[in-house]
Amino acid sequence: VLRLEDVRKTYPGGNKVLRGISMTIMPHETVALLGPSGSGKSTLMKCINLLETVNDGRIWLGGTDITDPRINQDACRARIGVVFQQFNLFPHMNVLKNVTLGAIKVHGMPKDQARERALELLDRIGMRKKAGAYPDQLSGGQQQRVAIVRALMTDPELLLLDEITSALDPMLVGEVLAMVSELTAGGTTILMATHEMSFAHHAANRVVLLLDGVIAENGTPEEVMDESENPRTREFFSHFR
Ligand code: ATP
Ligand code: MG
Repeated sequence: VLRLEDVRKTYPGGNKVLRGISMTIMPHETVALLGPSGSGKSTLMKCINLLETVNDGRIWLGGTDITDPRINQDACRARIGVVFQQFNLFPHMNVLKNVTLGAIKVHGMPKDQARERALELLDRIGMRKKAGAYPDQLSGGQQQRVAIVRALMTDPELLLLDEITSALDPMLVGEVLAMVSELTAGGTTILMATHEMSFAHHAANRVVLLLDGVIAENGTPEEVMDESENPRTREFFSHFR
């Protein structure tokens, strides 16, 4: 689904955030992207979503080199679903409008079809009755689940989740992670930056650890989180025990 080849990113000012990242995400995989604050997880996701341009290297989405300046960026973005930490929903629009707007305006989905798909997806997470509610009438967990529904409207090839539970009340984290688990079980391809280590351990197929702009580890949760001999890897995970 996704292949990164020696991706490098330096922000103006000289901060070398990504120093040669190569990795692959296979269809139906859920990959947890771990690393300390500032290690470049969000930067990597922004490069994949073309919100930032890479300085060097290539990113392939399916058969398309999306770092090629000649490609249609909007068309590439449309193939990727994204949910951020917060401020995902428009406060002045109800749930149904929030969920359908992008699919209609950006993807050209017919209104009726968008409405039907949205209600079906909301139904699946038990939120169909909230279709007319406004974001401030929902809990943070419900808002994030609606944001995930919106990202799924057009069946993206890849779902990018960037610390989607970090801004939530701890009581609400579980319901959002449970939804991610269900998507994993259903075969959605997911790249998820998170600090939820126990979730990464039991729910991810693979864990990638970013340290100082390079991939320090890439393996199963057991290999990376329990069995790595790398002192820096062990040091990182020791903070979460
Ligand atoms: P966190 O776990 O806190 O979300 P992260 O791993 O997502 O961290 P990034 O947000 O990718 O880290 O940031 C990586 C580095 O790049 C940081 O040092 C950050 O200050 C810097 N950085 C991020 N965005 C920009 C920007 N637009 N301009 C300059 N520097 C930036
Ligand atoms: Mg981040």
